[in-house]
Amino acid sequence: MKAEIIAVGAELLTPDFRDTNSLPLTAGLNELGIAVSFKTIVGDDEADLARVLRTAIGRSDLVLCMGGLGPTEDDRTRETLARVLKRKLVFRAAIRACIRERFRRRGLPMSASNLKQCYVIDGAEVLDNPNGTAPGQWLETKRSRIALLPGPPREILPMFENDVLPRLAGLGRGLSVRRIIRLTGLGESAMETRLKSVYAEVPSGVTVTTLASPGDLAIHLTYTGGGPRASAETRLDELEASIGRALRPWIYSRRGEGLEEVVGALLRSRDLTIACAESCTGGLIGHRLTDIPGSSDYFLESAVVYGNRAKIRRLGVPAALIDRHGAVSAPVARAMALGIRRTSGADLGLAVTGVAGPGGGTARKPVGLVYLALARARGTVVERHLFFGGRAQVKFQSSQKALDIVRKTLIARTGKAL
Ligand code: AMP
Ligand code: MG
Repeated sequence: MKAEIIAVGAELLTPDFRDTNSLPLTAGLNELGIAVSFKTIVGDDEADLARVLRTAIGRSDLVLCMGGLGPTEDDRTRETLARVLKRKLVFRAAIRACIRERFRRRGLPMSASNLKQCYVIDGAEVLDNPNGTAPGQWLETKRSRIALLPGPPREILPMFENDVLPRLAGLGRGLSVRRIIRLTGLGESAMETRLKSVYAEVPSGVTVTTLASPGDLAIHLTYTGGGPRASAETRLDELEASIGRALRPWIYSRRGEGLEEVVGALLRSRDLTIACAESCTGGLIGHRLTDIPGSSDYFLESAVVYGNRAKIRRLGVPAALIDRHGAVSAPVARAMALGIRRTSGADLGLAVTGVAGPGGGTARKPVGLVYLALARARGTVVERHLFFGGRAQVKFQSSQKALDIVRKTLIARTGKAL
């Protein structure tokens, strides 16, 4: 079973847009045990698109083609596929009625340019689009099944779920079960070294893929093959346990959750609150924590105390401390954590101060130097780190390390004795 995805649109070949739709489509196919063999991005040029479609139909059993179904002149997918398949386009009055009704509800007349969306390739089934004007189409040829889908994410994703996936049931290799283990605080090569013994005992049908970005690592375990599901889960459990033995201190999640979600769940279960004082992260820690629904139960506030005066006024950091040690220093980080804890009334005060770069570094305080502090009832911990990368990477790694300090503190000591 060969499956491929084609994304059509000139904008997807510019530096401004990327094809994001293919990721959830791939996830849906993988769930059914169907791997994606090719992904192609092609512009709106008809000859190029025809070549891509012809190639796809010649080599794949399933072709998902998205984009280019709109009303504008550059949307030519429908017409091009009809030409490639040497089939006629048939006008469907029912589609016109549907589109007219959409416009009527918004108090507008249907424009003539929408008429091209009423044409269906001979023999195709129409896939309703409740979220836009362009209906999708489903066709079967001798070799391939082909879906023509609209480009806008809010149109294609429901259509894929409701109309495409049900048509694919039974085509896959049975079962696909995936598990994502996430880690932080370890380099990619150090992880690989520790995984050597694990790679030697990967059960059949399971693939292990690792992904690394600064401050975050992931190990994807995928089982593809026959059922039953329980025995696939057992194989993954065993593999996960041996990965746990090799990498336990760095693993923060075994089901793919982000670090902010893990920390949130720990705070909730311990009935603790947190507040942050963020200098070089500029609110990123607060942003990440508030990405989790219900975080108001444990997250009180994040003060973006970027300038020295803000650190002094908002947190009560002594001016003399900044004069003596500089804003990026262990004593200032400690005073920031204590200040935010005291002024917010939170159980935990988390503070970050550092040099995010690209400018502003010195020999003693280079770009990437970051101090993190966590104040709690039992005392305050301060850590010094040196992160590599550009500004965005230093900011992300600072937020990641800060959240990981909270995580480690919370798992080390249970209850409120913090
Ligand atoms: P179209 O169906 O070609 O009229 O596409 C309409 C809009 O959908 C485009 O302007 C894009 O913003 C969006 N779009 C199209 N293809 C994709 C894709 N593969 N991933 C994400 N967005 C897309
Ligand atoms: Mg387009």
